[in-house]
Amino acid sequence: MSSSADTLDVAVFDAKPYDREYLAAGAKDTPIEWHFLDFRLNTQSVAAAAGFRAVCLFVNDKADAITLRQLADQGCQHLALRCAGFNNVDLKVAHEVGLKITRVPAYSPHAVAEHSVALLLTLNRKIHKAFNRVREHNFSLAGLVGFDLYGKSIGIVGTGKIGRIAAQIFRGFGCKVLAYDVREDAGWAGQTQVEYVSLEELLKKSDIVSLHAPLMPETNRLINAQSLAMMKEGAYLINTSRGKLIETRALIEALKNGRLGGVALDVYEEEEGVFFEDLSDRLLEDDELTRLISFPNVLVTSHQAFLTREALTEIARVTVQNLLFGAASKSFLPGSEL
Ligand code: NAD
Repeated sequence: MSSSADTLDVAVFDAKPYDREYLAAGAKDTPIEWHFLDFRLNTQSVAAAAGFRAVCLFVNDKADAITLRQLADQGCQHLALRCAGFNNVDLKVAHEVGLKITRVPAYSPHAVAEHSVALLLTLNRKIHKAFNRVREHNFSLAGLVGFDLYGKSIGIVGTGKIGRIAAQIFRGFGCKVLAYDVREDAGWAGQTQVEYVSLEELLKKSDIVSLHAPLMPETNRLINAQSLAMMKEGAYLINTSRGKLIETRALIEALKNGRLGGVALDVYEEEEGVFFEDLSDRLLEDDELTRLISFPNVLVTSHQAFLTREALTEIARVTVQNLLFGAASKSFLPGSEL
């Protein structure tokens, strides 16, 4: 590090080209100096953060107990998450060792909600297949039949920032929107003409189920063999939230026996080390992911729902603010409302 005493040196783990571009722009004219690292934070790589007062992490960096203790021993004081989710951080240990944690609670809920809808439209209207066909001068329509969204029932699981926007977009299509959340907002539901129901009723009545709940012990594998069996025959399932909300093995079974009409995923149970990476020159070692992407009615994107110019600009802006003025922002503690 060749910085002056006034410089705030930050080790940025898992830095991709777009992180470098937007973080550099966001920190212009500030004392922050980014040190971009291509690899993820974990127990093996934590030594690379030695001497940095702050580290900047994304969703697949692993801040477990051992890593956090070593970070603190190495002089790190601040964990600046450049994402909303924090299931990859052991909050209890971070608190114990006195590490401040900040995150970007909302950068663009529109980006994620719009991607959920984009996935559904692409899968249903088979745009990805049509694109490839037409490029090969195959103008046949055989096998491209979809369905109208108008009049269909959509089940939104989790009506927070993203789920609400998704619900509103679906209302715009003329869909009936059912919702399930552990905390209902009757005022919003009334205004948006959304009906809160139990999870069971939502699964039984929805033509399309879209997941927008955070990953926590209660939502881990919320969609499993039992819940999949409750879903309508031929229903579509969309997940842009967290991969571990769905038990992949049960999902594959439901696809194999034709129970589900289509599945669109932006996140995957075992995405760490695979999503965000170019593995095009190797064999994919994950047999379940290989099976999943082989189904003609499954569409997978690589955790890109957040990836808009607006979201990246906001992520950079808030991360810089958190690093510079983190003491004034709400650093969260275990059990706090997030
Ligand atoms: P939010 O905190 O605003 O909303 C989450 C909602 O889920 C809340 O209303 C909460 O009450 C509800 N909830 C909590 N436990 C629940 C349960 N057991 N069952 C049903 N609902 C429950 O969060 P948000 O900003 O809307 O984000 C939702 C999720 O989207 C995040 O947790 C994150 O995992 C994911 N996300 C994905 C991407 C991406 O790029 N794919 C980007 C950002 C966020």
